[in-house]
Amino acid sequence: MSDTIKTDVVIIGAGPIGLFAVFELGLLDIKAHLVDILDKVGGQCAELYPEKPIYDIPAVPIITGHGLTEALMQQIKPFGPSFHLGEMVTTLEKIGDPLFRITTDGGKVFEARSVVIAAGGGSFQPKRPPISGIEPYEGKSVHYAVRKMDAFRDKRLLIVGGGDSALDWTLNLQPIAKRLTLVHRRDDFRGAPDSVNKMRALVASGGMDLRIGQVASLEGGGGQLTAANIKGNDGATARVEIDAMLPFFGLTMKLGPVADWGLALEDELIPVDTAAFETSQPGLFAIGDINTYPGKLKLILSGFHEGALMAQKAHRYVFPDKKLTFQYTTSSSSLQKKLGVA
Ligand SMILES: Cc1cc2nc3c(=O)[nH]c(=O)nc-3n(C[C@H](O)[C@H](O)[C@H](O)COP(=O)(O)OP(=O)(O)OC[C@H]3O[C@@H](n4cnc5c(N)ncnc54)[C@H](O)[C@@H]3O)c2cc1C
Repeated sequence: MSDTIKTDVVIIGAGPIGLFAVFELGLLDIKAHLVDILDKVGGQCAELYPEKPIYDIPAVPIITGHGLTEALMQQIKPFGPSFHLGEMVTTLEKIGDPLFRITTDGGKVFEARSVVIAAGGGSFQPKRPPISGIEPYEGKSVHYAVRKMDAFRDKRLLIVGGGDSALDWTLNLQPIAKRLTLVHRRDDFRGAPDSVNKMRALVASGGMDLRIGQVASLEGGGGQLTAANIKGNDGATARVEIDAMLPFFGLTMKLGPVADWGLALEDELIPVDTAAFETSQPGLFAIGDINTYPGKLKLILSGFHEGALMAQKAHRYVFPDKKLTFQYTTSSSSLQKKLGVA
């Protein structure tokens, strides 16, 4: 376990609503750390529809999911938020009045006076491939994400899948692996054409193997894989000796650990008041798609509004002795100084 990171606010989820919350908190001098299970920011906008246009962001007639994420990152830059990507918040406990301790599956520990749950539809989690008997190897020699590339150095690797993740990790891990085999059920890849070309060039030069078919069974013991049997589309089975397997079958949204944080959920959503979007626990807020209240609309614009009101209340917990004066960014020189424009 690393040293505890002490901060004003921890935001769980770096989707559009978690990102905009940094802005509203930043205007009030409140520092934030954001944690997201994805290895990128933007939540659903970045993961599910980066190239689709959104038409209902106020005063922005059209912007893609990717464009909105980029614009939010630019808007919050003056406040220098700290990002902890590729980590899932697993535990959240109240240790003071208010003070919270948060831990991640990456071993990080945070202490914050307020916590903002901006976990959207829940955590994006990898889809498990339909291979019987895979469970005992998961987390030991079957990995759904690459946290540290060096863990795969000099290993015989089997990557399964045909999308961008499978191809990107094939290209990134091939130089350090002892031997790398990519398996896909068709000789047709969904990933970027440039990555497909690079992968095919490596196969042609003998730098890696490509097998068309499906993993039929695994061999090994005590969590350690020794081989995979791959059934080709011609019906023949090939045995490939491996040390680790990395299946990339896409992501699915699951509520995940939020369910274990002692909140009385309604239909897997967190009830909040509409004055500050605070849960039943003082100092613990829920904004964006994860919350529920009468009239709730799961829209980005609603989450932005929720973040603004949340920040006003969080200020009371972070700076109990400071009076908060309402100010406009257009006319307040102190706000403009914080934004780096004055
Ligand atoms: C196809 C599609 C089109 C859409 N079009 C529109 C539109 O036109 N206009 C509109 O307003 N809305 C639209 N939406 C809805 C909009 O995307 C959501 O309202 C918005 O993404 C909610 O933002 P959020 O930040 O609350 O949650 P999300 O975007 O879901 O982000 C939540 C983040 O929290 C992370 N997370 C969850 N649990 C944990 C945990 N335990 N630890 C660490 N991280 C965690 C997740 O990985 C995720 O990245 C659309 C949605 C879809 C799917």
